[in-house]
Amino acid sequence: MSLLDASVTELAERVRSGAVSATEVARACLERIASQRDLNAYLAMNDALLDDARKIDERRARGDKLGPLAGVPIALKDAIATRHLQTTAGSKILEGYVPPYDATVVARLRAADALLPGKTNMDEFAMGSSNENSAYGPCKNPHDVTRTPGGSSGGSAVSVAARMTPAALGSDTGGSIRQPAALTGVVGVKPTYGRVSRYGLVAFASSLDQIGPIASDVRGAARVLDVIAGRDPRDATSITAAPAACEAACDRDVRGLRIGVPDEYFGEGIDAEVDASVRESISKLERAGCTIERVSLPHTRLAVATYYVIATAEASSNLARFDGVRYGKRVDAADLKSLYGKTRDAGFGREVKRRILLGTFVLSAGYYDAYYSKAQKVRTLIARDFTAAFERVDAIACPTSPTPAFALGEKSGDPLSMYMSDVCTLPASLAGLPAISVPSRAATSNLPIGFQLVGRSCDEVMLFALAAACERASRSPRAS
Ligand code: GLN
Repeated sequence: MSLLDASVTELAERVRSGAVSATEVARACLERIASQRDLNAYLAMNDALLDDARKIDERRARGDKLGPLAGVPIALKDAIATRHLQTTAGSKILEGYVPPYDATVVARLRAADALLPGKTNMDEFAMGSSNENSAYGPCKNPHDVTRTPGGSSGGSAVSVAARMTPAALGSDTGGSIRQPAALTGVVGVKPTYGRVSRYGLVAFASSLDQIGPIASDVRGAARVLDVIAGRDPRDATSITAAPAACEAACDRDVRGLRIGVPDEYFGEGIDAEVDASVRESISKLERAGCTIERVSLPHTRLAVATYYVIATAEASSNLARFDGVRYGKRVDAADLKSLYGKTRDAGFGREVKRRILLGTFVLSAGYYDAYYSKAQKVRTLIARDFTAAFERVDAIACPTSPTPAFALGEKSGDPLSMYMSDVCTLPASLAGLPAISVPSRAATSNLPIGFQLVGRSCDEVMLFALAAACERASRSPRAS
């Protein structure tokens, strides 16, 4: 068994106890990444990895107590700023950009003694659901290399699914952690909006963006989230709520918890095998002692339209900072205005340009009320649907993605069908709620299927308890 088949928590315990050194783990990780290069999961590698590992080993040798992620390799989505290491957000406009600082999540991972091997491939500026919008070529699904791993955090999900690292960080604006986790058969968590600091995250849609973990098991995701979560004075949207003890929640008894199954997430548009697999996972929770109730989230059908107004509006504003003057790429021109134009024309890809145009349109005078204000009102209705449902149930269970992994190229020429692949993840994002995707029974083709649980605001603990119960039931089907 390779060292990297171990989970986050197993690996950390082995390094902490001295059974294996951080240097051995780092070497195994680099070898594994090198042997999987065809998947195109990484955009940049940390040259200091072996030095970082040696320092951890030296501290252990001196008798220091190591942190909770001692020697655990964790990949970082390339939208997360890393000092001394290129951060492109999957865009040509940031090619060669090396941030002068670490994102808060990176500083917290380092302080917990994690190893950070490199930066993972993603859709440009996190806009996409297949990784095909990366300026550096698509990342491939290890379960079938002719298929997409999902997106936008595709490289992070692939790093975990192909056992290059037991965990990774992604960012989720409308599903970008959960959907690739589902399509590659791993665990992905979008925390409550504000739970994790976004200081150092390249902004896409600021009222939605959230960083979270992807991991090979539920407990591993919980441990990483416990490390990165918490108030950060550098991010005004980070919440002050007491940190959730996510790892401890994985052992919690789930008997008596009430699970809501929303009618709107089943039936039309949902692949029959996804439907059947998710219903099986729900039955596992029932056998573990939960009660199952039908609920209704009537505004679900408006989520895709609402999201694509709000997210593009915010993106058009956020991306104005990439002007060729302060960051990355510059195409020189005779005057300032054409310098901006030429730089942005050469630096941004098609999908990013499409969204800047859409976002500028919905914010423009005369259209603001018809589109942007209306979308904000519908967003409130979507959030209220959840509030009403959570009066009766403790968590909501549904698919993560309407289909298993689709073929590379299948939707890339059809933005609307690509946008529809977010139909199951967008509502929780718009409502700012925590949500987790855990593997459900795979399709007959062996392609993974994800099961999504959505919780009350700040109730990650509930999600981890339920997700861990599902995982246990899947590992020992006869015991459930
Ligand atoms: N797929 C969605 C989009 O393209 C969500 C992306 C994300 O969560 N970053 O916007």
